[in-house]
Amino acid sequence: MKIICIGRNYTEHIKELNSETPEAPIIFLKPDTAILLKKQPFFIPDFSNNVHHEIEVLVRINKIGKHIQPQFAHKYYDEVSVGIDFTARDVQDDLRAKGLPWECSKAFDGSAVIGKWISKDQIEDIDNLDFTLKKNEEIVQKGNTGDMLHSIDTLIAYISKYFTLKIGDIIFTGTPSGVGAVKANDKLSGFLKDEELFNIKVK
Ligand code: MG
Repeated sequence: MKIICIGRNYTEHIKELNSETPEAPIIFLKPDTAILLKKQPFFIPDFSNNVHHEIEVLVRINKIGKHIQPQFAHKYYDEVSVGIDFTARDVQDDLRAKGLPWECSKAFDGSAVIGKWISKDQIEDIDNLDFTLKKNEEIVQKGNTGDMLHSIDTLIAYISKYFTLKIGDIIFTGTPSGVGAVKANDKLSGFLKDEELFNIKVK
């Protein structure tokens, strides 16, 4: 399986990082070794002094597809969750400044937190879905999928122009504003509406 991530999909997050708004979605990948195993803490890697949390809505692909049309994209996933795209921001800033790929800052071991999956049938409107990240019981990020620059179906269509989507592939759909550093002993919990879908410790 592969993890496909979208960058800069929420205006307020683009502003907080002083980034430019891209015309087309920004895509990068994480390998399966990036997945933080269930019940494991997240260990801050020794190559970074500024690892940020980015909560994102996730969808899991349930059907193989290539050149998917946006109007059919909803048929290619049936589960939704939230997760964290952990980002070594100092490493990323350095790579961005040099115009180099981001992988070392984004795709390292443990950088992909994946919450419990919820059936899409339980969700009324995928394009109006609240999600929240709490750090030490306080809300630090709050988003709604309605604020995405590119909707989930648009993303699936766009991604599948370049990459064949396969069963089990996971899409990270971008983070809203409020990203920030984590430190040892932080506790992070992710919610879709009011339901807690992950809960991890930072070490
Ligand atoms: Mg992200």
